[in-house]
Amino acid sequence: MQVTLSQPNLLKSQSYIDGKWISADSGNTYAITNPSNGEHIIDVADLGADETTRAVEAANKALKGWQALTAKERSAALRRWNQLILDNQEDLGKLMTLEQGKPLAEAKGEVAYGASFIDWFADEARRLNGDVIPTFAKDKRVLTIKQAVGVVAAITPWNFPIAMITRKAGPALAAGCTIVIKPSDETPLSALALAELAHQAGIPAGVLNVVVGKNAKDIGGVLTSNPIVRKLSFTGSTPVGKLLLSQCAQTVKRTSMELGGNAPFIVFNDADLDAAVEGAIASKFRNAGQTCVCANRLLIQEGVYDAFAEKLAKRVAEFKTGDGFENGVTIGPLINNAAVEKVESLVSDAVEKGAKALVGGEKLTSKGSQFFAPTILTDVTDTMSIFSSEIFGPVAPLFKFSTEEEAVAMANDTPFGLAAYFYSQDISRIWRVSENLEYGMVGINEGIISSEVAPFGGVKESGSGREGSIYGIDEYVEVKYLCMGNL
Ligand code: ADP
Repeated sequence: MQVTLSQPNLLKSQSYIDGKWISADSGNTYAITNPSNGEHIIDVADLGADETTRAVEAANKALKGWQALTAKERSAALRRWNQLILDNQEDLGKLMTLEQGKPLAEAKGEVAYGASFIDWFADEARRLNGDVIPTFAKDKRVLTIKQAVGVVAAITPWNFPIAMITRKAGPALAAGCTIVIKPSDETPLSALALAELAHQAGIPAGVLNVVVGKNAKDIGGVLTSNPIVRKLSFTGSTPVGKLLLSQCAQTVKRTSMELGGNAPFIVFNDADLDAAVEGAIASKFRNAGQTCVCANRLLIQEGVYDAFAEKLAKRVAEFKTGDGFENGVTIGPLINNAAVEKVESLVSDAVEKGAKALVGGEKLTSKGSQFFAPTILTDVTDTMSIFSSEIFGPVAPLFKFSTEEEAVAMANDTPFGLAAYFYSQDISRIWRVSENLEYGMVGINEGIISSEVAPFGGVKESGSGREGSIYGIDEYVEVKYLCMGNL
């Protein structure tokens, strides 16, 4: 452990089940390491299927009591949790930088962003209204009530170790569900610290459980097959999402899937070029390019291609890559060696087929084994693997197009449909392109679109369901129809 926390109790090595801190039945542990320097942080308990089953049972036992609370009482518990997360922003940020690598300022930003979902759904808890529907018969009345779906499982990734959890736990708890969370085995410390703060906030035993373990298949196997679990909310890769969907089919669970993306970032000749460059910097390089809404393909119209590339190169050269705790660092390491190898192979495939690295293009071995230089590739075409693969690294490939139709066709030429971005000043084109992009979210003259007030989610193989906003809580409630007759 290389940092000091003002609340040392936030560093946990055991899992949190039924309000207690639990070791693995086997006694096994595994090491968490710092991606910036490979240093050992701590060994955490390595739980498996049996402990996961117990967590599901604990969540089930807690369900009735949690549902019996008034919406205002659940809301108050969420508010306390939100406040504790904000009060401990510095410590949570440090833990995140330590295990995930993102720059400390960015990590603290994620803590605030993560808390915003708890804050938002603390309000939404009190607005779960039903309906009284005009009747279809004189002696009947037609009503709906909204009820919690029950025990929820959440499986989350390492790129946003806090926000991907709060985006699910916030609405689940607000609706009256209880939850079992399996965070990524790469970043369990942030998840466990969140559980400790939920405990301090007085969220009752069993309502929120965190199961940490390296064997995702075993833990996921229980979460997707146990009939007590009524809903799975997953954020991660499309192949794993498909597998989990098929597993959930056996017990017909409800699912929300936030899967991979292949975001186009289109710059038309009529764009405000400086704004487009700033948008590209924000969208492409946040979290070292490791977000599912990161610009993945920059499609630049031929009239501004060279000027855009030149301006972008100037800005990319200003990045400081390094350890997230170092002052002024804006790009951290990639999560693991496999991620570095994947980015390397996409770049070398593109270069072999004729792309040019205007900036960067290789690993920054002087910094450590997991750093990849912020890179701009020009002369990239759709015959290169980088056109169809999610890069998940700090590499911006610039494709050229001539017409709006061509740009939209290229943008939609993917099985994914999460986020898309475009820059134009022409109001007719803005409407046309917004409507023609087959994506769940579109940034128009804007590179950062995520917020707790807006619905986040994708179409096609990017998934189903929406998180955040007034729609997010719908994923955790059933609409029950009541018909009163013989009146
Ligand atoms: P990423 O590339 O973001 O790591 P993954 O889909 O591999 O995406 O991982 C997202 C989450 O899914 C992590 O918590 C991971 O441990 C979990 N996961 C991976 N494989 C499985 C599986 N077979 N069953 C259940 N969970 C899994």
